[in-house]
Amino acid sequence: MERTLKFYFGYERFKPLQEEVIKSVLDGKDAFVLMPTGGGKSLCYQLPALQLQGLTLVVSPLIALMKDQVDALNSNGIPAEFINSSLSNLDIINIQFKVFQGEIKLLYVAPERLTQNSFKEFLKSLNLSLIAIDEAHCISEWGHDFRPDYRALKDLKKLFPNVPTIALTATATTKVREDIVKELDLKEPKIFISSFDRENLNLFVVRKKNSFDKILEILKEHKGESTIIYCYSRKETEKLVSDLNKKGYKAIFYHAGLEDKIRKKNQEMFINDDVNIIVATIAFGMGIDKSNVRLVIHQTFPKTLEGYYQEIGRAGRDGLKSDCILFYSIADKRKHDFFIDKIQDSKIKINKKEKLKEIIDYCESKICRKKYILNYFGEDMDGGSCDNCDVCLSPKELLDITEIAKNILSCIKLTNSYFGINYIIKVLRGSKSVKDWHKEYFVFNSCNESEEELKEIIEHLINQEFIKKSDGDYPTLSLTFKGIDFLQAPEKIELSVHKRDIKSVKTETRDELDYDRALFEKLRDLRKRLADERKVPPFIIFGDVSLREMAHYKPKIKEDFSRIKGVGEAKLESFGEFFMEVIREYES
Ligand code: ADP
Ligand code: MG
Ligand code: ZN
Repeated sequence: MERTLKFYFGYERFKPLQEEVIKSVLDGKDAFVLMPTGGGKSLCYQLPALQLQGLTLVVSPLIALMKDQVDALNSNGIPAEFINSSLSNLDIINIQFKVFQGEIKLLYVAPERLTQNSFKEFLKSLNLSLIAIDEAHCISEWGHDFRPDYRALKDLKKLFPNVPTIALTATATTKVREDIVKELDLKEPKIFISSFDRENLNLFVVRKKNSFDKILEILKEHKGESTIIYCYSRKETEKLVSDLNKKGYKAIFYHAGLEDKIRKKNQEMFINDDVNIIVATIAFGMGIDKSNVRLVIHQTFPKTLEGYYQEIGRAGRDGLKSDCILFYSIADKRKHDFFIDKIQDSKIKINKKEKLKEIIDYCESKICRKKYILNYFGEDMDGGSCDNCDVCLSPKELLDITEIAKNILSCIKLTNSYFGINYIIKVLRGSKSVKDWHKEYFVFNSCNESEEELKEIIEHLINQEFIKKSDGDYPTLSLTFKGIDFLQAPEKIELSVHKRDIKSVKTETRDELDYDRALFEKLRDLRKRLADERKVPPFIIFGDVSLREMAHYKPKIKEDFSRIKGVGEAKLESFGEFFMEVIREYES
């Protein structure tokens, strides 16, 4: 297995769980695989396909992706083809003939193919060794991306009861997981679930203020690197692109309102590295397998935390460090509310509101971002911090909050523990809207802190058990015994607060290879040229990981070159000499 891995894919080692999955598949068992984006799911069926006698059928919903995946396999010397609606009938007949002759190891098809009886008959005439269902969550109506065409897959087990089936997805709740197993009728499947931690992603939440200037600053740090900027609306994407163009950045936009042809063209320009910045609505991303996206920016906070994790999942698929930056302002909640308020169905409406509240909580939280997200997805994190998020990285300062705490606690006491956090803050900040008799209290208008700051301090006092927050829809605040004691004999209370500063948004390169940047640029140019000549995206030739290793080890003979990550036998033969020539020339 290791030999096959190196020979075809150029990798020395398996990623977590890959080996276990592959062994189980080769044992002829059904499998369910849940791995985050970039986890390396494809290899779980591509490598078995090479070891097995017959054909591996791969079902994938993303027509746009099929060509890239097949190109990538071909460039590794693996015979693969795809059949979907983008091909002519004649093409399809030719491919079917090749498949029938046993010349093809992997055949990619869109699910709608399996609704055609003639195609099913064709499949039955073949020696089928393995069926892989990629993006398997599409079969579940509970999933976020249900595709009616996937229903056709229910028949597969009936047609091929003895062919092992592997279902793969990056997003599935327990409910969806059970649904997939049931709908595909998997037989005693082995379940593989890997951690959802994407270690190479740096997560930042940044206060949204002068966001355009901040974006310019971030882009300067990521010069020439593949970047996705998500905006809330179509209009915002167009505006941002025009602002960026004025500043000399080449950027293009992408949203559902564009003509199909233009949308496709813009997407291709991005994938082919003709332009490195794409400014998009969430319409963009499904079917983007670009491995070297180094930066994902959200100009407005997204609707759900699930959506957010999926969108930033498009960064750093190649495992190299990448930055994810979310601009947060509670003011943007209005944009979301506007749409939620229009929803008629009250159940859906409540659900959307809850989801929105979850992502707001995330943005306002002072807990390590990684930890928060992993916990949200039901996973624990080792250690309390990741050292790769704004919370863990930003310098902290100690704030003496003794006086403020006195006012807060007094205010709660004076108002007889009848009120919630927002009302207490109104009294402390001297709002006109509070009850008249509350304006008589000494705590009225006693704090200069902003609403946000007061919220943070009160949350801290709740955490430290000076204040108790009741349960229910309208939680009220009251004092604990500790709080009552404090009011009688105050002791110093300090709060460590984060100085959220844009300067801390920077890729950490500590544990990465230190490579020759100038040589890297030269290799990147060569990659682009070779890709254009062959009409494939550059990452099909080599990923950034391979180029960085080349720019570090500077291999000049075949034997050394073959040790570079991502260099298998086929790529060594087709491209080795081109790249070594550039390296030799650079060194001389
Ligand atoms: P997924 O489908 O889970 O999102 P992919 O199958 O597209 O992930 O793989 C993500 C990236 O990881 C690809 O660039 C792939 O070439 C790379 N990769 C897969 N397996 C390995 C491995 N064993 N070692 C190094 N890189 C790998
Ligand atoms: Mg995949
Ligand atoms: Zn952290």
